[in-house]
This record gives sequence, structure tokens and C-alpha cells, in this order.
Amino acid sequence: MSEKKRVCMICGKPSEVSICDSCKAQIQGEAIDKKQKIEREVRIGPEMEKEKKKKG
Ligand SMILES: [Zn+2]
Repeated sequence: MSEKKRVCMICGKPSEVSICDSCKAQIQGEAIDKKQKIEREVRIGPEMEKEKKKKG
């Protein structure tokens, strides 16, 4: 298997490691935050996309 170049599997930016430091920190930060705060943040975005139905 020959890889052309390694990129971060999270953000896709060129990185020597599979997960760059930025993303790693973010993931770990979220993990710690979740561990400390057992709180579910349910993001329910009001997706009100109207389907355009054009009748001929
Ligand atoms: Zn990244």
C-alpha cells in the first residue's frame, strides 16, 4: 500500500499523524468535557426546508 500523502482523518489537512494535534486536542477536550459534564447537548436545528413542488 503506497500512500501519496498523509492527511488528518478528521479535518483532512496534511499531517504526519492520522489525527493532527488540533483535532486530537479537540477530541480529547470533548471527551474530557463529556466525562466531567454528563450532559447531553442535543442540537435540534429547526430544519425547515420546504420542498419545492412545482406542478406542471
Ligand atoms: Zn485535523
